[in-house]
Amino acid sequence: MKYIDEYRDGALAQDLLGGIRRRADKIGRNITIMEVCGSHTTAIGRFGIRGLMPDTIRLISGPGCPVCVTSIEDVDKALQIARHKGVIFATFGDMLRVPGSAATSLQDIRADGADIRIISSPAQCIALAGSHTKQEIVLMGIGFETTSPAIASAVKTWKKTRTKNVSLFSVHKMIPPAIKALLGDPGLSIDAFLCPGHVSTIIGEQPYKVIADKGCAAVITGFEPLDILEGIYRILGQILSGDIRVENQYIRGVNPQGNAKALSLLDEVFKTADSSWRGLGSIEASGLVLNDTYAAFDAAGRFDLPAIVSEEPPGCRCGDILRGTILPEQCPLFNTLCTPANPVGPCMVSSEGTCAAYYNYT
Ligand code: SF4
Repeated sequence: MKYIDEYRDGALAQDLLGGIRRRADKIGRNITIMEVCGSHTTAIGRFGIRGLMPDTIRLISGPGCPVCVTSIEDVDKALQIARHKGVIFATFGDMLRVPGSAATSLQDIRADGADIRIISSPAQCIALAGSHTKQEIVLMGIGFETTSPAIASAVKTWKKTRTKNVSLFSVHKMIPPAIKALLGDPGLSIDAFLCPGHVSTIIGEQPYKVIADKGCAAVITGFEPLDILEGIYRILGQILSGDIRVENQYIRGVNPQGNAKALSLLDEVFKTADSSWRGLGSIEASGLVLNDTYAAFDAAGRFDLPAIVSEEPPGCRCGDILRGTILPEQCPLFNTLCTPANPVGPCMVSSEGTCAAYYNYT
């Protein structure tokens, strides 16, 4: 199949692996490379790439799964909204099983009668609003720069059509501020980033300059095995030569300037706000909330949400997983109390979660 088979060629993979080994030998020290995209985490596990690396090359996963980085406080707020009488809570499927405080999930409250609908596109909300005029449709807006333009487009349509009974609970986040936070974390020592291909289709190359400015290599990388091997090969080339910069391996998907139309949609509908990330805490200007023009559609302003004290699942180390300070096997609950069938934390819920990827592929 075009764009797949040629990126899974065994002979080319062997060539790249040979190059990686030679470059690693020449560098002669341990190198830590973090990927900040859940699709990379899954692909690295699925294609066994971690096990192919020389001993000195360590691949670690970061905060690349949107469901996983959603804070427990925001999960609890979603539960509060979804419990309101007269609310139809629309969400993408991954969110359904993420536990909030007291291990309660949207799936649990749906079993108790809450009206929660799984949607595959935010555009479905307008149809729901039209067919349920006496109810309030609340869309949970979750995801990075890849998904937020589609949500922005939906919100624009709500305003244009003067649809009143629909609102957005936005927990959208942006990747570059999270990378900046990781770079400033004294407990971490990251040499390079495999930058997320999907997010980069929207934001382009420039926002990753912060990585190179801190002396870390950065390669925007695609998702097939040869993409990832080439991304690692290029990272080692940068380290070897000292020519640290942002490179774009995924040129078939990523325009250096990003997607102007999508960026303009984001600008038109959202503004930045501080956002709380699981494991990383509050990061300045890392979230997207509706701007003043669209504030009437902000679910937070339509519901009275009493303050509650949120509590992480006891024993769960998702926060450390998302900062890359431990591997899933170092969590005592991994594959004992916590499995994809019975997830304790969000990193085991989503197929893009690091714990789920390790469970499925190691
Ligand atoms: Fe959390 Fe389960 Fe991962 Fe442990 S194994 S960090 S409990 S998701």
